[in-house]
Amino acid sequence: MRIADLYAANDGPVFSLEFFTPKSEAGRKALFRAIGRLKAIEPGFASITCGAAGTTRERTADLAIELQNELGITTMAHLVCTGTTQAELDETLRHMQANGIENILALRGDPPKGATDWAPVEGGFRHANELAAFIRERFSLGLGGACYPEKHHEAASLEADIEHLKLKVDAGVEFLITQLFFDNDKYWRFVEEIRAEGIAVPVVPGIMPVLSLTNLQRIASLSPGTSIPSELEDALRAAGDDDDASLAAGVRFAAKQCRELLANGAPGIHFYTLNRSKATLRTVAEL
Ligand code: FAD
Repeated sequence: MRIADLYAANDGPVFSLEFFTPKSEAGRKALFRAIGRLKAIEPGFASITCGAAGTTRERTADLAIELQNELGITTMAHLVCTGTTQAELDETLRHMQANGIENILALRGDPPKGATDWAPVEGGFRHANELAAFIRERFSLGLGGACYPEKHHEAASLEADIEHLKLKVDAGVEFLITQLFFDNDKYWRFVEEIRAEGIAVPVVPGIMPVLSLTNLQRIASLSPGTSIPSELEDALRAAGDDDDASLAAGVRFAAKQCRELLANGAPGIHFYTLNRSKATLRTVAEL
């Protein structure tokens, strides 16, 4: 199933789930337990990140194939340009297409750990729009892309970032998933600005129910430029060391965010699950 068709069907909000490839057997078992529980929300699709500067590419592809073929969940594999040649990308794409994967999230990727600047490898791509064009030319696959309501941290301005985003959509990206955000106004302003620039594809809000104040601080350090509403920070601070109270505060905030987004016409919610089920399940239950 092409994910773009799910949004086009306009058949109610599409809930989707993002997972990362586990590093150990214990992590793998925990992931499958979490997915087993998350099936209750009838996800439209699951997506699998590509970590460590592209080095999980094959594991990402194999996990996506396994989830789709064995659990029957439409799956989208993230594919990054970081550290990867065109020939390697081509090989992975062929492997996925041959095994039934129909959707790819085309990304430039984060720099390798420890590096501050991003650089392409010899024979690789520099930007996600180049990867999207490559896939569109050679494969029959559904394509998503990333976007940043609060601007990608390397972009000189939001306007410049949106100009680049337009290149990505013009190259064949059919829907966009946002970086996580906590301020819905930023999402709506962004959607308005990109529509004014002629970008018409669905923009799916990426939401992460926060588990604790420490979790929020970590997110803030990993996602530079993300606005943190004082309402959320204060609620988590008030919960202190009480894990249940922290989770309840994070879920309450995420559920309020999702309710407002869906009530105002967002096409769905993409949950950053961190391979866990509880926060996402509770958030959806509160909608
Ligand atoms: P691009 O679209 O290439 O943009 C990167 C920067 O370059 C931006 O500042 C943009 O304005 C600029 N730019 C874009 N095109 C051009 C151009 N043609 N000319 C000049 N400038 C240009 N990272 C991972 O490593 N693995 C993952 O699995 C992963 N999953 C993600 C999922 C989502 C939903 C999101 C939002 C992000 C994800 N990321 C992931 C993070 C992402 O890889 C980083 O944010 C990365 O820095 C940018 O990737 P991009 O695809 O948005 O890049």
